[in-house]
Amino acid sequence: MTASFPFPPALPVTLAIVGSDQRFPVRRIYCIGRNYAEHAREMGVAGDAAAPVFFLKPGDSAVALPGPVRYPPATADLHHEVELVLALAAGGSDLDETQAGAAIFGHAIGLDLTRRDLQSAAKALRQPWDTGKSFEQAAPVGPIQPVAHGHYFDRGEISLEVNGQVRQRGDLAQMLLSPAQVIVALSRLYTLAPGDLVFTGTPAGVGPLQRGDTFSARIQGLAPVHGSIV
Ligand code: MN
Repeated sequence: MTASFPFPPALPVTLAIVGSDQRFPVRRIYCIGRNYAEHAREMGVAGDAAAPVFFLKPGDSAVALPGPVRYPPATADLHHEVELVLALAAGGSDLDETQAGAAIFGHAIGLDLTRRDLQSAAKALRQPWDTGKSFEQAAPVGPIQPVAHGHYFDRGEISLEVNGQVRQRGDLAQMLLSPAQVIVALSRLYTLAPGDLVFTGTPAGVGPLQRGDTFSARIQGLAPVHGSIV
């Protein structure tokens, strides 16, 4: 018997897959914080590979780039964090590094948008980060570039320009936990599944975005993605 609903159940946000007519359906969005030492320092903390910081964004906070991104409510300090995003086509718990690498379907470029004022207030009060990190369109993501089975990026330049000015620039090799190590650590906390996205942290240089800004995000080996704040 087919279930009936009082209203149509929500469909997942989907992302383009480079070279394919198929779409990638987004399930959960996992994020690691403080995965680049220099960014951890600019936030006034130390990065610690042995004690990674994780948080989640709702799956429906993903929004496909290129395109406009709405400036969220309740903030006067929306920050950009350009990040390598891993798109998973497999999952499970307690994965080893080989299994974690094999779970990666592809890479994308994403922005971990942050209401920094709300996050800072929450930190000061020792409250959760949710309102700072989780909101509508908090996770703009470009098209997913599939990778060969078991392969993933662990080096290469990552950068973000806002209105033509370089704001963030780093190298994926600076990550404290590699992509596979991030997935291993997540899989000890959560049961990962196909459709999950993993934001792998941001290099130094985070800063504010305003309505009307345009941005271009780049990761070596991926096509640049562009967007605007509206
Ligand atoms: Mn981040």
